[in-house]
Amino acid sequence: MTGAGPDERADAVVVGAGLTGLVTAVRLARTAGPGRRVLLLEAGGEPGGRARTTDHRGYRLGLGPRALYRTTRDELRALGVRVPGGEPDLSGSLALRDGALHPGYAAPGPLLRTGLLAPRERLAVARLLALSRGRPNLAGTDAARWLADRLPTERAREAAFAVLRVSAYAGRPEMIDAGALAAHFAGVRRGVTYVDGGWRTLVDALLGRARALGVETRTGCRVTAVEGGARPRLTLADGHGIRARSVVLAGLPQRAAHRLLDEPGPAGPPGRPLHTACLDVALSRLPDPRRTLVLGVDEPLYLSVASQTARLAPDGGAVLHLARYDDGSGLGATEVRKRLDELLDLCQPGWREVLVHERFLPRITTMTAVPEARTGGLPGRPGPRVPGRPGVFVAGDWVGQRGLLADACVLSGARAAEEAAARL
Ligand SMILES: Cc1cc2nc3c(=O)[nH]c(=O)nc-3n(C[C@H](O)[C@H](O)[C@H](O)COP(=O)(O)OP(=O)(O)OC[C@H]3O[C@@H](n4cnc5c(N)ncnc54)[C@H](O)[C@@H]3O)c2cc1C
Repeated sequence: MTGAGPDERADAVVVGAGLTGLVTAVRLARTAGPGRRVLLLEAGGEPGGRARTTDHRGYRLGLGPRALYRTTRDELRALGVRVPGGEPDLSGSLALRDGALHPGYAAPGPLLRTGLLAPRERLAVARLLALSRGRPNLAGTDAARWLADRLPTERAREAAFAVLRVSAYAGRPEMIDAGALAAHFAGVRRGVTYVDGGWRTLVDALLGRARALGVETRTGCRVTAVEGGARPRLTLADGHGIRARSVVLAGLPQRAAHRLLDEPGPAGPPGRPLHTACLDVALSRLPDPRRTLVLGVDEPLYLSVASQTARLAPDGGAVLHLARYDDGSGLGATEVRKRLDELLDLCQPGWREVLVHERFLPRITTMTAVPEARTGGLPGRPGPRVPGRPGVFVAGDWVGQRGLLADACVLSGARAAEEAAARL
């Protein structure tokens, strides 16, 4: 379709077919019931957004490491999407400090044995990570302050954050609100799933559900403006217009959403994005099957052999994900890559000889807006309604008062879908 012509009509339009948009479209179509016309528009060549998985001769590589939390899993199951996979075994996790590997902290067992902490420190860290004292009034306090208040030494704080960081992708504790981090970590402790086939399994299943419910999905379809309130009108990059009763901007960063709406955005301080460097690796054989989960302590590094838990590689092969979380140190891509290579050399010596495929992503956005203490933590995030635009809703990892990362996407997508469906 090109050019102006008469506007197309739809009941509801979801803009963006990442995880947020897919969940939103399925829930919207299901709540609205049969006979409603729901469109799902995606600018890219395929749906999935940052939840995409690529396939290299049977090796499934997500964009960076992927752990699906219970909240996301439960929301997907409620939409009829199965989540096949397994839970990683943390008991053999290792900690990397001063360039050497030590029995790690990722599970209570290794934490209580690690020689990197004195007994008093171990106990304090274990207690903090158990969140046994609850999380009273943590919103508005940054995680650095929380750790300083609760832990006796710098070494203990570093150890605790090594575990917390992995769950939230936050490179340093000053970056993130303690209430948001603690609530998220409590959810992560309920269990995580490494998904068979990668997150593409979920994207495909959601697309299947959407199709079965009659949602029309269009790729290569960029929305350039959304005007009006009660009966919004969308303009596409080719000039085509669509009028709908409800529009959900799903998974667009906050600034991008406000640009489409031609609105200045919130008056308060903007949420800052979180970036991570990722190295995704496929090997025909795993050189050392004992070194499969490593958490950096004095440097924000991570390594996981995801294929030990989920079906991601052909028999005998392995898929590994390495990451360096952004700690604000400003290291260039070459230096970051060098450090990830060194970690791989340490854990899986000889990996280059069995390399099938590698992909280095020096700076991918893991969260479009971190809930920070200065922005009020989770309670400071906006809801799905856009003030003054009754037919327009937003959803994504920066929307709603619950959840981080994919959890925030599915929870805010569900709420936006309910509100959008109520207008049809
Ligand atoms: C390296 C990495 C690791 C991660 N690990 C985890 C993890 O372990 N656990 C977890 O819970 N979360 C994790 N996440 C976060 C999770 O992947 C994201 O929160 C989620 O995939 C975001 O989905 P989304 O739909 O909100 O955004 P996106 O995936 O970015 O999708 C937005 C979509 O909108 C489209 N779009 C944008 N503008 C327009 C427009 N104008 N018109 C039409 N379409 C448009 C884009 O093309 C895109 O496809 C990770 C993220 C990354 C990057």
